Formats: sequence, C-alpha cells, structure tokens
Amino acid sequence: MPATFLGPVCHRSSADCVLCRKAACRPNFSRLVVLQITQVTPFLVDTGGSKSWLFVKLDTDEGLVGWGEAYTQQDRDAAMLAHLVEMGRHLVGRGPFAIKHFSSVMYLDYALRRPAMEFWSALSALEQAMWDIAGKACGQPVYNLLGGPCRARIRVYANGWSEQSRTPDQYAQRACEVVARGFTALKFDPFSNPWRTHIGRAEEDLAVERVRAVREAVGSSVEILIEVHRRLAPNEAIRIAGRLEQFQPFWYEEPIDPEDMAGLAEVRRRTSLPVVTGEALYSKAQFAQVFAQRAADILNPDVCNCGGILALKEIASAAEPWHVAIAPHNYNSTSVGLASTLQVSACIPNFLITEYFVNFASLGSEIASRPFEVKDSHIELPTEPGLGIELDESALQRHKLPAERRPRHIRTYDEEQ
Ligand SMILES: [Mg+2]
Repeated sequence: MPATFLGPVCHRSSADCVLCRKAACRPNFSRLVVLQITQVTPFLVDTGGSKSWLFVKLDTDEGLVGWGEAYTQQDRDAAMLAHLVEMGRHLVGRGPFAIKHFSSVMYLDYALRRPAMEFWSALSALEQAMWDIAGKACGQPVYNLLGGPCRARIRVYANGWSEQSRTPDQYAQRACEVVARGFTALKFDPFSNPWRTHIGRAEEDLAVERVRAVREAVGSSVEILIEVHRRLAPNEAIRIAGRLEQFQPFWYEEPIDPEDMAGLAEVRRRTSLPVVTGEALYSKAQFAQVFAQRAADILNPDVCNCGGILALKEIASAAEPWHVAIAPHNYNSTSVGLASTLQVSACIPNFLITEYFVNFASLGSEIASRPFEVKDSHIELPTEPGLGIELDESALQRHKLPAERRPRHIRTYDEEQ
C-alpha cells in the first residue's frame, strides 16, 4: 500500500526544478502525489582498507532517488549486504514517508524482536534513503523536517590518522600533522591489538606514554579523545583513567564492554573523565539502561547502525533529561553516512561533536557529487533537499568490492601471549 501525501510536483520538463534540478519550476503543493519505492539497489565498495562501505539506492515511480548507508565490519560485510537485500524486498511498493511505520514493523514483524547488528545496519541504510526521498519531495533538507537547525555548522573530530603509529613519537608526529590541517579535536586508541580484557603492565605503560606524547605535541588547546574499544576490565579502566587525568582528555570512550552496564557505571563514578558509550548499543532499551544506571556522560550512537536518522534523534531526545550529550559515531564513509550524521546533528540541542575519518576523505570525495568540506574542524550544514549528497554510480562500480577476497588474519591460540 503506497503512502499518500501532499507534496510538491516535480515538473520534469521545466528548467529549474528544485527536485529534478533542471531549472524552472517551484514545488506545487496543490496536488496529491503518491510516491512509491520501486527498486532497492545495494553497492558494496572496496575502500582499499580494512573496511568496506555499503550503500543503498532507492528508486521511486516519480523519478526521485534516495541514498542510505549501512555500517559494516571487516569479514561481516557480505552478511550485511545479504540482510540489506532481504529487508529491501519489504520496502518495494511502500511510500517513502511511512518511515516510522517501516522501522517499527521491521523490528516487530520482520525481526520478531530478535535483532542483530546486521539487522540494525540494514534498517539504518533503508531508513536514511527514505528520509533522502522525503526531503527531496518536500524541497527541504532533512533537518528542516526534524525540527529545524539548532546550529549552522557541525564540529568534527579527526579519526583514522593514527592507524600506522606504534611509538609515542609516531603518534605525536601524526597528531601534529592532523592539527596542521585545522582539526581542533582528534581521537585515537592508545592501546594495541589484540583485544583482551587484562592487558598487562607493559601495554598499560605504553598507552599512557602515547597519550603523554600526543598531549605534549599538540598543546593544551587541542582536544584529545581517548578510544578504548571495550578492551578493559573495570579495575583496569579505573586505574588507567586515573593515570590519564593529568593529560585532560576530552573523553574516555568505551573503557569497558557496555554489556556490563553496572561495571561501566562503576567506572564512571570513579573517574572525572567524561565516559562515552553507545556505538555498540542499538536499541532504545539498551540506551534506557545507560540512563537508568547513569553509566555515561556522552552517547555515541552511529546513524548507520542505530536504526537511522529518526532513531538517532529519538535517542538524543531521550538523553536530554539525563544531562547526557550526543557525539554521533561515524565509522562510515565521508559521503552518505556523514550526510545523515550532519542532518541529525543539526537539529539536536545536546549535540557535542561528531566523527570524521580523515583516511576515508579521498575515496569519499571520488564517489560523491559534492563532498563535504572540513574547515577549522567544522562542516557547514548542507542546504540541498534531502540528505544533501548524491553518489556517482560509475565510481561505485569502479570500486566494487570483489566477491572473492581473503579473510583477515585472526589469531590462533599459539599466537597468544
Ligand atoms: Mg569507538
């Protein structure tokens, strides 16, 4: 059943239409238009690094198209693609304005209240693409349909700059390079792989020295954001936080696995560092537990795996009375995922800062019609209808992820220390 709505009519034969971009018509709200999604097309893109990008394009019977992006992880992207294709079959024939209903029935009827990260990632991509179409149909950026902007530009922090660093000096040198590009906030994980809970004294000392080197190199005016990636046990997280406080980090991200919410709340009570969690939480029930246990100062849900644009906005609204700020995670491309992040960040009063992967910028610019520009650690709000970004399908095809590819190396027991 297609949705019926009062919307503008795209005069495709005219010259300056805000929708078809050809040139001369204005939205005509005098006619009922029935839009229907007719096709769902995924694109899995090889970034050349450890992570792929998964985009989706929705076509409609009126010619409008919408773009969305799903969060991916290495070696799990094929499963996410399959999930996106499977779920997309249920979107064909529906109207792009029935966003909340689609999200609800995917959770209730499709997933039968048994979601996994792949479910949330696929839903997020489809949801974003529906908003893109809705915005284009109304001739408005998405944030104008979500309460309007609370700010004109969005502050971003740099991530992805430290991946090849090993020694404290290497971290310091690369941090200075990022600051020289205008970033006023930068995030890094001072710990080393592999993931384990009890990391040992040598690893702990090295992490502290890496943070010390970066702080001394960039000075006191640059914010440094400490990423822990759920590595630590609560007692380690508390002890290390105490050692890091002298460097005045902007935040302490995921010191422990948030599945141990009581443990995370204990860490928060015993450090003055602002504690972040959220990128590994997906449902409103999980975020409600963060509030109830006062387990975090800042949430970092990801618009590409929390259920999409409206889901992220609703999480942000729920956080307001708990004095919890929102810093959207964005380990996605610098195109559609970033566009969706910007749209939500624009219209939430408790927004703090969001993530920008500097190592993704080059390919992101190649696949996008008009990439977002970072200036002085900020991105101006897009003003185009919809998400404010279009992708170049020929570029997506050029960088298509091969079906056959080597899995990454996962440690064996005899490699354990
Ligand atoms: Mg993180």
